[in-house]
Amino acid sequence: GCGICPKRCPFGAITIINLPTNLESQITHRYSANSFKLHRLPMPRPGNVLGLVGTNGIGKSTALKILSGKLKPNLGRFDNPPDWEDVIKHFRGSELQNYFTKLLEDDLKSIVKPQYVDQIPKAIRGTDRSVQFLLESRHTLGNLDSVLDTLELRHILDRDVSHLSGGELQRFAIGTTCVSKADVYMFDEPSSYLDVKQRLSAARMIRSLLRPDDYVIVVEHDLSVLDYLSDFVCVLYGQPAVYGVVTLPYSVREGINIFLDGHIPTENLRFRDESLTFRIAEGTEELLVEKSRAFKYPKMEKTLGNFHLSIDSGDFSDSEIIVMMGENGTGKTTFCRMLAGVLKPDGNQKVPEMKISMKPQTITPKFEGTVRMLFFKKIKAAFLSPQFQTDVVKPLKLDDFIDQEVRNLSGGELQRVAIVLALGIPADIYVIDEPSAYLDSEQRIVASRVIKRFIMHAKKTAFIVEHDFIMATYLADRVIVFDGQPGIDAHANKPESLLTGCNTFLKNLDVTFRRDPTNFRPRINKANSQLDQEQKLSGNYVSFD
Ligand code: ADP
Ligand code: ADP
Ligand code: MG
Ligand code: MG
Repeated sequence: GCGICPKRCPFGAITIINLPTNLESQITHRYSANSFKLHRLPMPRPGNVLGLVGTNGIGKSTALKILSGKLKPNLGRFDNPPDWEDVIKHFRGSELQNYFTKLLEDDLKSIVKPQYVDQIPKAIRGTDRSVQFLLESRHTLGNLDSVLDTLELRHILDRDVSHLSGGELQRFAIGTTCVSKADVYMFDEPSSYLDVKQRLSAARMIRSLLRPDDYVIVVEHDLSVLDYLSDFVCVLYGQPAVYGVVTLPYSVREGINIFLDGHIPTENLRFRDESLTFRIAEGTEELLVEKSRAFKYPKMEKTLGNFHLSIDSGDFSDSEIIVMMGENGTGKTTFCRMLAGVLKPDGNQKVPEMKISMKPQTITPKFEGTVRMLFFKKIKAAFLSPQFQTDVVKPLKLDDFIDQEVRNLSGGELQRVAIVLALGIPADIYVIDEPSAYLDSEQRIVASRVIKRFIMHAKKTAFIVEHDFIMATYLADRVIVFDGQPGIDAHANKPESLLTGCNTFLKNLDVTFRRDPTNFRPRINKANSQLDQEQKLSGNYVSFD
């Protein structure tokens, strides 16, 4: 706890230092006695994209359910719910009064891209469950062709929804939302499972829905995507699973910076002890170490069915993080599995034999027992080491659910368990495939810092696949760029510097990034803005000053 907070905060770093005094009169919804409370609501504006940012369990999905009209807010009176008239009276004088009046009287049609796309196939009934049929039957906006192209759905049109991969399911879900005519569009975490290129396409698709009189609301944990997508941002803060408070809408830059800073200047309110920044060497200056050992891997080829991957020879050293960047289907996971020795290269090339610990991309918990039991079984020595506890277990906040059954954990909890398991196994090389999946923006930053410190302290090497560009550039000492034709013929370049690697990668995507002067987070430049043109001309697709 911080010593100022009236209650000892069970969430460590997330400490409410001073709360707004009038919160009790601003309860929008409470599920039941002693359950989660949501205070205030995000204020959507017609003709604008409103972005929501906040930790897991802070009420973002609850807010969407209320704004879509699917959940009538009970203003905290769960035992004696008010009628809509009272609800509208409660929001008198704010834009929300207007919004709910329209929602009820004009019968606004709202449509939500749900957070958990994996559950979509189960929910779809009927005999024809092909992507084509489902898209066409929902298509009322006249934009089907552009949706199919932008979201790369053409090659999966005849596929049954139950056979789609995570990324395909996500694009399908965004697609079905974007082809429907509605007054309110909501997207709950649209970037999960997508690569950087697909995230940008999805963002452009979502923005294309804007009309002067419709509303678009997006929950997103990839801060560069949220930044690119939104016109305004509301921050949600509080204590996960206990209560959440929604701020007024801020400009995108200000809103994201407030979230990172943990401080709302207009309310003089601090909701997190520390402010989060992205200076490249942040927190690792004292850890700059001699890189002493050099390793090499040969030029390799791998054929899997119709897919062919060629890998340039490369080298790496200890105390180094190499991030793999590239589109889905270009063989990043295949290369990880080759490094780990699970897959053998074609011919008789050999990956140097070293001890590898790998966090796989997909995590399927089979273990029967609690998280603590799992750690005792798999990584007892590390788990009992005070250094590992301080560097890894504590910052990832596993204490909150250490005695829960592994199979009951949420996606974000499982991801953190998987990261701890991977780092807890003694190895020369740590291969970490998509660590940010299911993590919220704050957990992503914490996880990146944990991985970076661990690799530097332990003087080991990490290969990491990561699509969250802010996280990828924060983690990377060097990068391997994957290019070529996804699913068919791809190529892994040799490891190169962060700067040249990002230039190659971003040139393919035709986007440039600048840095925010306050916290150094990379921000996407508006296409054809002066900075965009200048940076493209000089070949500096991302500025690292
Ligand atoms: P977020 O989308 O920000 O992760 P949610 O709005 O899904 O958060 O959930 C906020 C809190 O409300 C969580 O602690 C969640 O467990 C709780 N919650 C969500 N739905 C219900 C419900 N139907 N009944 C009781 N509690 C719920
Ligand atoms: P990434 O991790 O970059 O998204 P992957 O390495 O998972 O890419 O896959 C690259 C391509 O190889 C994909 O098109 C995938 O469908 C294909 N692939 C992966 N494993 C097999 C396999 N065992 N048999 C046939 N094709 C495969
Ligand atoms: Mg949610
Ligand atoms: Mg992969």
